[in-house]
Formats: sequence, structure tokens, C-alpha cells
Amino acid sequence: MIIKSADFICSNTQVSKLPLPLKPEYAFIGRSNVGKSSLINMLTQKKGLAKTSQTPGKTQLINHFLVNEDWYIVDLPGYGYARISKSKKEDWDKFIRNYLDKRESLQCVMVLIDSRLEPQKIDLAFCNWLGEKGLPFILIFTKADKQGSLKTDQNVAKFRKALMTTFEEAPQHFVTSSETQAGRDEVLAFIANINQS
Ligand code: GDP
Repeated sequence: MIIKSADFICSNTQVSKLPLPLKPEYAFIGRSNVGKSSLINMLTQKKGLAKTSQTPGKTQLINHFLVNEDWYIVDLPGYGYARISKSKKEDWDKFIRNYLDKRESLQCVMVLIDSRLEPQKIDLAFCNWLGEKGLPFILIFTKADKQGSLKTDQNVAKFRKALMTTFEEAPQHFVTSSETQAGRDEVLAFIANINQS
């Protein structure tokens, strides 16, 4: 897919104020610092579109970016902040789960996983919750340039294996790097395919 335009549309703290659900959208989510903003900027080739390295847990916003005037990238607040209070965590849960559960134009949840790490409980729990809700999702492994491909492959295999305890089939996955642009064509082709169907 060729990206002709990518524009920030709005930031919301309330699900009721989101844009009308008239265009397909793809929600990007993961632990704080997983490389979500960098990935969004890499996919759209727009450096400052999503802000990188913001103070974790500061603002809990749902950001909508319109791509090619045709579909939305939705930037969801990251989960798993070490220094966030319990009540804030609960707010996050309610807010995001409400969005994911109710959004009729949501095509797929893109769950970002740091390819350098062994499977993390919080990521597995989140995937399991998506599965319970019957929400379609894929895995996007980030920061693949940070280690050799063997290590990445091992971590990918471990994560998929860990998911197999609850899922009959592991979800589709992509290995990406915002530094080298690895995986960009593949992720965009995946989205284009759904948009056309
Ligand atoms: P977010 O909190 O998930 O939005 O993560 P950011 O996109 O802000 O990235 C967190 C840190 O990881 C920043 O210092 C980025 O420069 C770095 N980073 C993100 N993606 C990559 C990548 O693919 N490769 C490398 N080497 N660094 C990355």
C-alpha cells in the first residue's frame, strides 16, 4: 500500500466522543515503551505523527490518525506502567476495554510485543482477554534490529507457544523494526487486504 496521506484527527478521553465509526480502523496497543509511536511513524513515514517517548501513563488518550482518507490508525494508551496507581490502572482498563469491546468499525487489534523479551505475563493476559471477547488480533514484534534474527525467532516462537495453551491456532504475526523499516510492507499489505474485503 502506498501511503499518500496520514493526518492526526483527534485525541479523546471518552469513547462517546470518537469519530463516527464509518471507516475501518486498526488499534495499536502494547506495553509502554514497546515502540508503538515509532511504529506508527514508520508505517506512515511521518516522523512526528505519533509522539515518541512520552512520559509513561501521563495522558490516557485514544488518538485517531486518518490514512489515505480511507482508514484509521488508532493509537491506544500503553499498558503495564510500573509507576501508575491502582485506580489509574482500573481507569485504563475500563476505558480501553470499553473501546475495544464496543467499537463497531474496529477491524483488528495490533498487539505490539518487544521482540527482545521472553513472553511477558501482561502481554499474554491481554491476548487472552482479546480471545475471550472474540476480538480479532495479530502480533507485531517490535525492535527486531536490536538483536540477531535467531534471538528474535526464539522469542517469537516462545510467545506463540505460550499462547497455544489457550488458543487452538496462534494469531498471525509480523516482525518489525522502526529503524530498518523491516515488516512495513507486510503490515500495510495485511491492512490493505482487510480494507479491500
Ligand atoms: P511507545 O512508548 O510504545 O510509543 O515507544 P516509542 O516509540 O516512544 O519507543 C520507545 C523507545 O524505543 C524510543 O527510544 C525509541 O527510539 C526506541 N525504539 C522504538 N522502536 C524501535 C526500533 O524498532 N528499533 C530501535 N533500535 N529502537 C526503537
